[in-house]
Amino acid sequence: MGEKKSLNKALFKKIPNRFFMLRITCPNNNVPERTYIIKVLLNELLGCGVSQNEIQFDDSVSDYLICCNEKTIIVEDHFFNKYPQPLSYINKNNLPKSLEYFHGLGLNTPIIYGVDKFETKDGCITVGLDVFASSFFMLTRWEESLYGREEKGDCEENELFCVKHHIHNCPIVHEYEKLLRQLLLGSLIANREYKVVLTHDVDAINTPTWAQIVKCVIRNKHISSLTYNPTLTWKDVLSYKFRFPNVYSQTKLYVELAKKYHLPEWFYLKVCSKGERGYTYDYRHQHTKEYVNKLSKEVGGDIVLGFHPSQLTFNNSEQWKKEVDRINSLLHYKPRIGRNHHLLYNDETLRNWSVLNEQTLENTVLISNCVFHKHIGFRSGIAVPYPVFDTIERKQLNLIEYPCVIMDTALIRSDYVHGYDAWDEIASVINEVKNNNGVLLLTWHILIREVKLFDEYFQLCENTIKCATK
Ligand SMILES: [Zn+2]
Repeated sequence: MGEKKSLNKALFKKIPNRFFMLRITCPNNNVPERTYIIKVLLNELLGCGVSQNEIQFDDSVSDYLICCNEKTIIVEDHFFNKYPQPLSYINKNNLPKSLEYFHGLGLNTPIIYGVDKFETKDGCITVGLDVFASSFFMLTRWEESLYGREEKGDCEENELFCVKHHIHNCPIVHEYEKLLRQLLLGSLIANREYKVVLTHDVDAINTPTWAQIVKCVIRNKHISSLTYNPTLTWKDVLSYKFRFPNVYSQTKLYVELAKKYHLPEWFYLKVCSKGERGYTYDYRHQHTKEYVNKLSKEVGGDIVLGFHPSQLTFNNSEQWKKEVDRINSLLHYKPRIGRNHHLLYNDETLRNWSVLNEQTLENTVLISNCVFHKHIGFRSGIAVPYPVFDTIERKQLNLIEYPCVIMDTALIRSDYVHGYDAWDEIASVINEVKNNNGVLLLTWHILIREVKLFDEYFQLCENTIKCATK
């Protein structure tokens, strides 16, 4: 079974040992925030292996001073130094106002914080684009907490800076990575492998048995008592039943698709019980156990089963604990991957995930909550997994976010499939991931109970995979 493998490590080639001197000195404020983002950019993305001792904080400097062998690079601080008090940066007034572009080194890079300045003088390079604050803004999503994510678990994505300025299709953190890579390593190629992963939120597996259908007819009950969906007709139910006779039949098609294209496939399972809000299948039901057994027995594929906490777990740690116990008993092991239903999360949820992570053997729970509902692209501006930062408690969590790039519902909701240049946009997003040697994480729901609609979703999935693997 795939869950025993290290999911994250397998994606990266071994980082070579550094053979050059690197030291970075920063203004002495916002220390945890600066440390986090320096380590993500220089270590996770560039593979420089900068140690804690090589990051210094000094009251006498006002910009980032990077000493790399004989070179000195100044990255101007256009953000954190203005808000030296802890957490004072988190304020609507401090959000980026407009979008400018940086043109140094022949690039055309969006600036979130900073100015379009690139100067070389006496062997010292000065960069006006504050790549550290800009990357921190994208990866931590602190912007979203100002738009109600802490209270509601989500926010209106059209308000987000990257969506408002139409740069959500660009993995902007990789643009900053390229700039630093060029300045520090003199190369443009990231030492990673492009991967495609197919994931599924298993939101509904129920399919009525023939006995249930007959009983429903005899008792003259409304069809919605069978399907939990009042819009379905008898014709819909019967044609679905003939096409997908058991709980696993629909999933089987996706499993075959992933095998055909040699993709790893991850399933996130709900563990609600009857009577709870959002209930669609009972985690204790024989059908659910059969479903899990069938998936667990799949050989030849790279299948991993994970946790899909219900919307009741948002801001409710008691329900969270209940569902964690349920998923452990359903799978017979602690899940190593997860995504919240409706993508509802806030800092408390991230801490819950982090605690769950501490209980696993390898300490590498991967979550995929950073996804657009209505768009495709890069909600956190990046196409590779990255460590999560708790903005309120000001520390890096022992938790990895695997951002999802394309979700089926976003395509359908936005009428992408019927749009004029839908495939241009899909292909462009896929190319961005390829060019950055990133991970293209796709999400397709196991949810549809109507044959025609299922066929449309499934075809969209195969077309996307074809485009991603050619
Ligand atoms: Zn869901």
